[in-house]
Amino acid sequence: MKITGVEVYELQIPFSRGVSKQSPSSFLKADALDFCIIKIETDEGIVGWGDAFSFHCRKSVAEAIKHMIKPRLLGKNPLDVKKINFDLQKELHLFGRYGITMFAISGVDIALWDIVSKYSNLPLYSLLGSSGNKEMPAYASLWRYEDVDSVKDRCAQAINLGYKYIKLHEIYTSEVKAAREVVGEKIPIMLDTNCPWTRQEAKRMLMELKEFNLYWVEEPINPPEDFEGLSNLRKETQTPIAAGENACTSFEFKKMFEAQAVDYAQPSVTKVGGITEFNKVVSLAESYGVQIMPHSPYFGPGFLATLHLAQSIPNAGLLERFFIDFDAYLYPEEIFNPKNGVFQAPTNPGLGFDPDLNVIKDYRV
Ligand SMILES: [Mg+2]
Repeated sequence: MKITGVEVYELQIPFSRGVSKQSPSSFLKADALDFCIIKIETDEGIVGWGDAFSFHCRKSVAEAIKHMIKPRLLGKNPLDVKKINFDLQKELHLFGRYGITMFAISGVDIALWDIVSKYSNLPLYSLLGSSGNKEMPAYASLWRYEDVDSVKDRCAQAINLGYKYIKLHEIYTSEVKAAREVVGEKIPIMLDTNCPWTRQEAKRMLMELKEFNLYWVEEPINPPEDFEGLSNLRKETQTPIAAGENACTSFEFKKMFEAQAVDYAQPSVTKVGGITEFNKVVSLAESYGVQIMPHSPYFGPGFLATLHLAQSIPNAGLLERFFIDFDAYLYPEEIFNPKNGVFQAPTNPGLGFDPDLNVIKDYRV
């Protein structure tokens, strides 16, 4: 089998944050989410779909795929997915082992695994060694509102929909306090801060937040690769720490684990180097005794890939559902909505679904 075509679809799909009140937050300032969807065609008619991380960097990632990767893929056998990933990383190392280049490689890797599992006529989780019957608990991953009433409303909505875990993207104590008041003591709350603080500020904040008994605090320190800072913070505050969405390749995770920086590792399939690299992180985490918590605020092939990976990982923890509502979805909407707080992986061959071509047509940039 040979790769005969690589096409990139840039999309922007509008979404709602679920509350009418305007938020003062500058978090991901946008009313539409970027998608960089990759289609890989073969001479045997099998088509694979992938998803490269592209929030606010869509154009750059798309160009990287078209100009840096596509010429290296044409004519290759897609069943050699691991070798292709290795070769791309080797040939492109000059252009950055983190960020845009790895996002592009990640998207291509996901599309290739879609082809491999369609060729095998199996759902991806079967290929990865799972029956597909594992329960995958979901958490609602709320927008950053920086507004107490909005946080209260969204927490109540998530609980009503059956979510058993809530993650906030807030940076002030008032919103965490409000969430705890609404959900009570029994619902675990996670706090994702997206690297706002120095080491000292993070320590002060985590001590202040202790009374809310957070399940984890995510990326409290800037820069994200300050593993020594995270490790000290973890020990000094006795707070569970999660990080990893900004780490690319298993080499970066090895440094993180060596430094004892995290309780929960969060590889992101559209950023870390695709399914191939994600699975290396899984093995590494197992040998360091670190729990995997996949990062997946996605609504394209990256989300499906995460469902299949989580099926196959013995120590996969909770699965993220970015708690925003889109004008349109690339797949049947049910797949994004856990039942009784639990996700199911699609059972069709490959990733399980191809994107809706009408949605691609309507929201293409
Ligand atoms: Mg995060």
